[in-house]
Amino acid sequence: MEQQVTDDQRPLVIQGAMDVETRVIEAALTEAEEEPLGHYRCVRGRLDGYPVVVCETQWGMANAAAVTALVIARYHPCAILSQGTAGAHNPGLRNYDIVLGARTVNESAWQTKYAARGAGIDPRALKQLGVFAWNEQQQAFVQEVYHAGDKALLAAAEAVRGSYTQGNVLAGTIGTCDSWNCEADRILFLHEFYGSDVEEMESDAVAQICLNFHVPFLAIRVVSNSVFDGDVDWDLDVGPACQRYALSVAKEFLTHHT
Ligand code: SAH
Repeated sequence: MEQQVTDDQRPLVIQGAMDVETRVIEAALTEAEEEPLGHYRCVRGRLDGYPVVVCETQWGMANAAAVTALVIARYHPCAILSQGTAGAHNPGLRNYDIVLGARTVNESAWQTKYAARGAGIDPRALKQLGVFAWNEQQQAFVQEVYHAGDKALLAAAEAVRGSYTQGNVLAGTIGTCDSWNCEADRILFLHEFYGSDVEEMESDAVAQICLNFHVPFLAIRVVSNSVFDGDVDWDLDVGPACQRYALSVAKEFLTHHT
């Protein structure tokens, strides 16, 4: 049964880092109003009558985290969806394939093993650290390597799989870091070490802030580049495909899962 939309309903926030990752969603909104957060683009409107806010975070973890905290303080959202482009870690993925973030992981949160001066550098000699986020059960900030995507958002994202015809859809692990890896062997190491299917620069930072403020969160990423295809350039045409998928997820979530 569809839910009645009331004026005091909390909005769903959808984030993308760049305009190629946000403008299709913005165009789908009615009653759209620009309400910038400082210099960050932010547009409030309605999707099938439901309140939705679209934020352009810019690249990277600090930007995404800042926008997330600001948007939570201003709008008290019912949930946050982070979506956009990513690079393949899983060699089986191709451009246009979509990864639903069953979990996210910060791939820069590690400690190197001790090595003496002159002993050289081993990029594989790492211990996973994780980052501190609020843990409801323990009522404390807890250092965890993986952050699970919200169950209801993930169920909505799984439910609309059939609508996507441009690639495969997989529920998996999204790795976040302010880096762009292009060495196939390093990527294979990260794929094995963290189990990551893709890498990008925002999702786990947003997951961390959402946990801290008790806001349901899911990341959805479309593959825009894969070193296993011998090409390190990215295909930005995938951005709109991911936004259309995110729009389907948003509609499904707002009508059936809230
Ligand atoms: N290669 C770019 C720099 C980074 S783009 C340049 O030449 O200037 C970063 C944006 O693309 C981020 O929003 C990130 O989430 C996304 N992204 C897409 N593919 C990525 C990859 N393989 N690694 C890291 N970020 C990626």
